[in-house]
Amino acid sequence: MKTQVAIIGAGPSGLMLNRYLAKHGIESIVIEDRSRDYVESRIRAGLLETQAVNLLEEIGVSDRLKKEGLEHEGIYLQIPGERKHINFKDLIGYTVWVYGQTEIQRDLDHACDAAGQEIHYEVTNVELHNTDSENPSVTFVDKDGNAQKIECAVIAGCDGFWGPSRKSIPGVEVGSFERVYPFGWLGVMADVAPSTDELIYARHPDGFAMHSMRSDKVSRLYLQVDPKDDIANWSDDRIWSELSKRMAVDGWELKTGPITEKSIVAMRSFVSGKLKHGRLFLVGDAGHIVPPTGAKGLNSAANDVRFLGEGLVDFFKKNDANLLNAYEDRAKETVWRVTHFSWWMTSMLHTMGDEFDNQLQLSQLKHLFKNKALQTNLAENYVGIR
Ligand SMILES: Cc1cc2nc3c(=O)[nH]c(=O)nc-3n(C[C@H](O)[C@H](O)[C@H](O)COP(=O)(O)OP(=O)(O)OC[C@H]3O[C@@H](n4cnc5c(N)ncnc54)[C@H](O)[C@@H]3O)c2cc1C
Repeated sequence: MKTQVAIIGAGPSGLMLNRYLAKHGIESIVIEDRSRDYVESRIRAGLLETQAVNLLEEIGVSDRLKKEGLEHEGIYLQIPGERKHINFKDLIGYTVWVYGQTEIQRDLDHACDAAGQEIHYEVTNVELHNTDSENPSVTFVDKDGNAQKIECAVIAGCDGFWGPSRKSIPGVEVGSFERVYPFGWLGVMADVAPSTDELIYARHPDGFAMHSMRSDKVSRLYLQVDPKDDIANWSDDRIWSELSKRMAVDGWELKTGPITEKSIVAMRSFVSGKLKHGRLFLVGDAGHIVPPTGAKGLNSAANDVRFLGEGLVDFFKKNDANLLNAYEDRAKETVWRVTHFSWWMTSMLHTMGDEFDNQLQLSQLKHLFKNKALQTNLAENYVGIR
């Protein structure tokens, strides 16, 4: 097979890039090691910032998002006894959208189907070759067991944190940063109408709790737990009781309902030392990940897609490599802003450390509740104005 760009991974990064390139008349081939059903049903992100919504609009996959998504003007922050609304629209004139990653993935898949773009699912033995030359290639075994080779001009590593692209870069560990947090999130999806109009982020002495949603009938909720805890220790009753306690405020009640999915995820911040090696470019979770507190993972992926897409358009259409060569610097500047914001939200809202740390967190939140400059800063970072 021959193409201009070989894309490894058919998650949000891979398919957004595929659609962006197609819109600009650039060919790409996408390979993915999981099945389409598996990728479409992976429950993850649910909140889109302005630039991600703009990108989806631009590549023609925002119709259902605009019809079925929920536009939110802000978020609630909470400490015991006090819930404060931070209104982004009033503060800076921007909003965010609640729309599940599962839905985005389906919309992207359908857009690929409509355009006749084949995606090679369930491939194995993916290997990258000659990435520092002008003729890199990717080999793999297709789902029927046939050995395949893609010859291309550029490889986009959109294969997430565990994929082969980053690992293929010599010396990538140098300059890579990782922070593993001493807590995880127990996340549940529940068939019950949300008990709130906008997301609630609650700091409680027993740990962080969060109320999000996927629609007006489905709630998404999270609890700070030990990352090594076993989900079997958490009955549905125990989860609802802990959520109700950590999010309690006078006059408000958490509605409960059937839990349809529950799991525990560990939390880490990671920034790869390199996002580029010759003609290989890392995009999205392949190059960086953040704890989900700032709702930034998928949004950062959209940001990378925009930067790499612009560079590739100049490269293939104008024979100008300047923007492509600037990809790593442009992406990293945003990645570090997002990494700081996600770390800040995480550190402020999760219980960790001793009573001194607790008092500092409470002081910071109380200050934020009163201080418009701090609220504006939070709003700008949350909606992705950088
Ligand atoms: C519980 C949870 C909640 C989250 N909440 C939010 C949120 O609210 N907002 C937000 O913005 N982000 C959130 N995120 C993060 C977000 O889901 C990710 O940042 C996003 O999925 C990144 O997209 P990606 O395409 O870069 O990587 P991925 O989604 O990981 O996709 C990578 C793809 O590459 C494939 N792959 C891996 N290895 C190979 C291989 N060898 N060959 C071929 N393909 C391969 C994988 O199967 C996968 O399909 C959350 C994540 C989790 C886990």
